[in-house]
Amino acid sequence: MSYYELRCRECGRSWGNQPRSICDECFSPLEIVYDYDTLRAQANGNALTRERISQRPPNMWRYADLLPLPQGFQPRLPVGFTPLFQAPHLAERLNGTTAARANLYIKNDAVCLPTLSFKDRVVAVALANARAFGFETVSCSSTGNLANAVAAHAAREGLKAWIFIPADLEPAKILGTNVFGAKVVRISGNYDQVNRLCSQIADEHRWGFVNVNLRPYYAEGSKTVGFEIAEQLGWRLPDNLVCPMAGGSLITKIKKAFDELTKLGLVEAKEVKFFGAQATGCSPISTAVKTGSCEIEPQKPNTIARSLAIGNPADGHYAIKTIKGSGGWSEDVSDPEVIDSIRLLAETEGIFTETAGGVTVGCAAKLYRQDRILPEETTVLCVTGNGLKTTDVLAGVYRTERPIAPKLAEFESYLRQSLDVAEVPGIVAAAEEAEQVGA
Ligand SMILES: *Cc1c(COP(=O)(O)O)cnc(C)c1O
Ligand SMILES: [Zn+2]
Repeated sequence: MSYYELRCRECGRSWGNQPRSICDECFSPLEIVYDYDTLRAQANGNALTRERISQRPPNMWRYADLLPLPQGFQPRLPVGFTPLFQAPHLAERLNGTTAARANLYIKNDAVCLPTLSFKDRVVAVALANARAFGFETVSCSSTGNLANAVAAHAAREGLKAWIFIPADLEPAKILGTNVFGAKVVRISGNYDQVNRLCSQIADEHRWGFVNVNLRPYYAEGSKTVGFEIAEQLGWRLPDNLVCPMAGGSLITKIKKAFDELTKLGLVEAKEVKFFGAQATGCSPISTAVKTGSCEIEPQKPNTIARSLAIGNPADGHYAIKTIKGSGGWSEDVSDPEVIDSIRLLAETEGIFTETAGGVTVGCAAKLYRQDRILPEETTVLCVTGNGLKTTDVLAGVYRTERPIAPKLAEFESYLRQSLDVAEVPGIVAAAEEAEQVGA
């Protein structure tokens, strides 16, 4: 017998293990629950200790005990275990003082394998189950990163992939799906419409939709972000966590991960504040938090942060609960702020994130300014995707410099012209002189 199963989040009815995401009795979402007594016994019996986990290979499968994986499952890809590091320069810029330097961390899923976003984690768990349920075709509705991840993992697993996306997605995300040999279906409509279509297709075809009928399994993969953060902080929990939100699942699963580690005695209990981040052009969750509502009012997305552009988030209600219950808050930032934040993170810490990461950094700046995050508190920002997938948003920010001839003299002259004369007064005269000589 399995030590995990599906249970209704509202009425508590058990549904065993099957490709299903909604309770037929009350139409609420299903979630995986574990037999924590068995897991705790393993912890007490020294099978699940910090030391044991730390000795396992550096990928998300080191937490296999806490994931819904079918018996005999053998991982085929070393997904996850992305770097967590301090961000002192960014901290100084966000907080305006040096006080936050040692306390701000970035969890960098921009380098998650194999497709450079945290979606590789959720897909890895979903496909493990797709195979066990006997699906030969896997599918998803996607704002981009999920498309990349499903296509890549399906190729590796030898499964067929059908991917449904809004037609106007970033070209790099479409190409990054095509390349794995997946069938890409572009829909004239926004994500919410694509997702609704996928629910209908799932009723007609025996396909494993990772974020529809496999959603409860898929969502559990996000917990590994939380497990890793705790382990990488030296088996302790941060004070604050800032997380970008689309469907609202990731933020709730990081909380679940922290709760599970606490339950199993792997970390000391701590009240972590959860902060959600959205783009103002698609901010149904942050709007609800700000107005004190517990329910989502769907929006029509209009933002460059395409990976977060879900107007009617499936887990919005639970994300609100996570944020409010923790004493946290949710913020949102405009598109220009997203671009400025992408540049700020790149210029201060050498990380090139996609729009979602710009949203996270931009919201973190606001939260520091509002004193909702204090400089002496340990704060982790989740950077969830890679900037090379959304280069279009930076078009026009940088001008293309004129090329110069491959000659030293040409370079020296170019250098003189390029030097910021305003900042280095001593150079001005020399540069002017050179120009006169040249003329
Ligand atoms: C999907 C996605 C998110 C949000 O995840 P949800 O669980 O849907 O809230 C955040 N960042 C990136 C880069 C994503 O692709
Ligand atoms: Zn129910």
